[in-house]
Amino acid sequence: MKVTEHIEKAKGKALFSFEIIPPQKGKNIQELYDNIDPLMEFNPPFIDVTTSREEFVYIERDGLFDRKITRMRPGTVGICAALKHKYNVDTIPHVLCGGFTKEETEYMLVDCQYLGIENVMALRGDAMKHQRYFEPTDGGHTFATGLVKQIRNMCEGKYLHETIEKADDFNFCIGVAGYPEKHLEAPSLDFDLNKLKEKVDAGADYIVTQMFFDNSKFFAFVEKARSAGINVPIIPGIKPIAVKKHLQLLPQVFKIDLPENLVNAVDACKNNKEVRQVGIEWCIEQSKELKEAGVPLLHYYSMGKSDNIKAIASELF
Ligand SMILES: Cc1cc2nc3c(=O)[nH]c(=O)nc-3n(C[C@H](O)[C@H](O)[C@H](O)COP(=O)(O)OP(=O)(O)OC[C@H]3O[C@@H](n4cnc5c(N)ncnc54)[C@H](O)[C@@H]3O)c2cc1C
Repeated sequence: MKVTEHIEKAKGKALFSFEIIPPQKGKNIQELYDNIDPLMEFNPPFIDVTTSREEFVYIERDGLFDRKITRMRPGTVGICAALKHKYNVDTIPHVLCGGFTKEETEYMLVDCQYLGIENVMALRGDAMKHQRYFEPTDGGHTFATGLVKQIRNMCEGKYLHETIEKADDFNFCIGVAGYPEKHLEAPSLDFDLNKLKEKVDAGADYIVTQMFFDNSKFFAFVEKARSAGINVPIIPGIKPIAVKKHLQLLPQVFKIDLPENLVNAVDACKNNKEVRQVGIEWCIEQSKELKEAGVPLLHYYSMGKSDNIKAIASELF
């Protein structure tokens, strides 16, 4: 079922969903299952599976280094198929501009169609590790809007190099990213909202936000988005702080603010076990307030570990 259909069917009751990352190449999928199993009792209508950017690796040969390109966590569509089969749940692959040509994207979407995957999340992707700014891949899209348009066109039978008159009737439900504290490269929140509106006008059906720790930022963002004419569901994406290092890492990587009370509470922790508990408690309070405000769904960034998400979900769903 499509995300928008799940939301409609829930008739105002907030739903629970989460995002996982594929295992590192060479690792067994069992660890992933072990982390997903405890979350299935909360009836997620769908699970998101991220896609990782490719990276450069340097391989030594006879004293010289060869630069090769590799993807450390491949298998997004395969994992979507495996989870769909094992848990009978909708799965949502993240489709990226960066690292993929438009043709590769088309083939991935065809795979999704055959697998009965009805939703995709269309994202630009971040810059590669060695890059300061995102550089589009040769033959790929520069912004997520282009990707949304490609997916929408494909649903109408307009493939990249041919139009198929009587293409089979399928229609992806498309999610895109939104940033309550603006995207790190955007010059202003209004600019970023205009770009978000372009993604929706190009055919996106719903928005999932970047993580935030201060609900007032999310509420203000939703208000601004509605005034800008963005009328699709806006799903808050949230994450419990799990280690002390997050105090520096999250603002650095995502350019988000952490509220002073949270910073002080984490800072006072003697070890990461205590930090994990503070993160859980903060996230429960955040989730309760969001739920009361009537959000359609709470989407959790699990980063592959589920004990804290289970503790949070047990209080809410
Ligand atoms: C819910 C969620 C899931 C994610 N999943 C993944 C994942 O699986 N893998 C991964 O690598 N990353 C993921 N990301 C991170 C995401 O790829 C990065 O945040 C990326 O830097 C931006 O992606 P986007 O789709 O928002 O880009 P875009 O919407 O293309 O925006 C990127 C920037 O360009 C600006 N912009 C957009 N259009 C234009 C235009 N026409 N002209 C000028 N500027 C423009 C925007 O304001 C913004 O600053 C995820 C993020 C979120 C919120």
